[in-house]
Amino acid sequence: MRLGEDKSINVIEKECEMLRKAIIIKERCPQDHPCPALPKCPTDAILQKGYNAPEVIEEKCIGCGKCVKICPTGAFQFER
Ligand code: SF4
Repeated sequence: MRLGEDKSINVIEKECEMLRKAIIIKERCPQDHPCPALPKCPTDAILQKGYNAPEVIEEKCIGCGKCVKICPTGAFQFER
């Protein structure tokens, strides 16, 4: 790897991260509790009505991955 190449890779990785969007797999959400990812989302991109499966507002999602990491049932994933 040449000098500076690793920096370019970091920039590309960050840009790819910003392009990805979280989605909800509703079948994985037991829908019986407040979503733990909701207060962790930095852009308020997650909505939950009652204990229903949350929704991700695509326009607000910056692809940070916090919801994907925090959900214990893997209900948040990145779209492919
Ligand atoms: S990836 Fe980040 S910005 Fe998008 S919904 Fe999850 S926590 Fe919010």
